[in-house]
Amino acid sequence: MNIHEYQAKELLANYGIGIPTGYPAMTVDEAVKGAEQLPGPLYVVKAQIHAGGRGKGTFKELGADAKGGVRLAKSIDDVRSDATDMLGNTLVTVQTGDEGKEVNRLYVTDGVDIEKEYYLSMLVDRATGRIAMVVSTEGGMDIETVAHDTPEKITTITVDPAAGFTDADGQKAADALKLSGDLAASCVDLTKKLYEAFVGLDCAMIEINPLVETKDGKLLVLDTKMSFDSNAMFRHPDVEALRDESEEDPMEVEASKYDLAYIKLDGDIGCMVNGAGLAMATMDIIKLNGAFPANFLDVGGGADKEKVTAAFKIILSDPSVKGILVNIFGGIMKCDIIADGIVAAAKEVNLSVPLVVRLEGTNVEKGKDILSNSGLPIVSADNLGDAAKKIVAEVKQAA
Ligand code: GDP
Ligand code: MG
Repeated sequence: MNIHEYQAKELLANYGIGIPTGYPAMTVDEAVKGAEQLPGPLYVVKAQIHAGGRGKGTFKELGADAKGGVRLAKSIDDVRSDATDMLGNTLVTVQTGDEGKEVNRLYVTDGVDIEKEYYLSMLVDRATGRIAMVVSTEGGMDIETVAHDTPEKITTITVDPAAGFTDADGQKAADALKLSGDLAASCVDLTKKLYEAFVGLDCAMIEINPLVETKDGKLLVLDTKMSFDSNAMFRHPDVEALRDESEEDPMEVEASKYDLAYIKLDGDIGCMVNGAGLAMATMDIIKLNGAFPANFLDVGGGADKEKVTAAFKIILSDPSVKGILVNIFGGIMKCDIIADGIVAAAKEVNLSVPLVVRLEGTNVEKGKDILSNSGLPIVSADNLGDAAKKIVAEVKQAA
């Protein structure tokens, strides 16, 4: 789960981390009101979307010459015209894809006099199973480019979970950023608090780019992205409340309402499977047969008729779906119950594409009888290989 920059900064500020003062705004008037509470004379108007690269982005409606989604404003009037430019328009950045994202929220902040920009992030490093901190003197730039062109400028510090984050870890970060004196002490303090926030909020990643040294010798978080372990959000209702569904894929939002694990993909064969491993295997075998899956969908162990119907509707709402493969192992669930669900769901949604069903497990014969007596053009398959071959053939034939 991701959140907006202003929300992430407020969470970090709760841990005592320095951020520029700022106010979120949903309207031009709110943006102006926010700016009026700031000291000036420099303000920053920032588009709030769940994507980076905003500064160098372009607005679809404004043409290539207009400024991007992070603008320095020198007066309240400039704040007003920048806010008017951005709200309701579509910002395209290297991270949004060509379709861009509509800007519905802004963040108006106090403009900072920057001495130097740095990069600092924390993430769960799957290779070591530990939290790692990544730092670089090359702040404000695309870190993937830095990693590719000048990997020696990136330092990774792995934190021992038993010891927790130590001053020595913070000092390593300060050294890598070539900070000394008070700035090094601020860096140790900031990284320690960042680790507390990371663990305390069950983060998956916190990326600060840039972390800045101000002209008057302070370290401030100028931009940050924060993402969380979705499975831990039951522990953080206050964080969960920050979710902005308008930033997420609408089908994935719908799926999450039914507790379905759904991820949209690029192919044309819709998949409905129980269990993440079986779902992965199903996608593999579709590819092996020369086609591509339109989605990953795990209906889970306790799929009932309601869930199966919701899953069918979600799969079919994707216009690229040309056929559906259902692959269910009836273990805890019985195959006849699943078959009832499939038949009811197929009738309810007025199924218009070929449907191949492979059932295996408890009461499989009863389940197959229900499918073949349903009067629906459902193709039954005996095993996973057979199922994949049949759905690929059906889709090719229909094309
Ligand atoms: P991003 O483009 O989405 O990564 O947005 P950022 O918040 O990182 O802003 C992009 C760039 O704008 C930063 O790297 C800074 O160079 C510049 N910028 C942002 N805020 C300020 C500010 O308060 N003062 C100055 N001088 N520059 C800023
Ligand atoms: Mg940035």
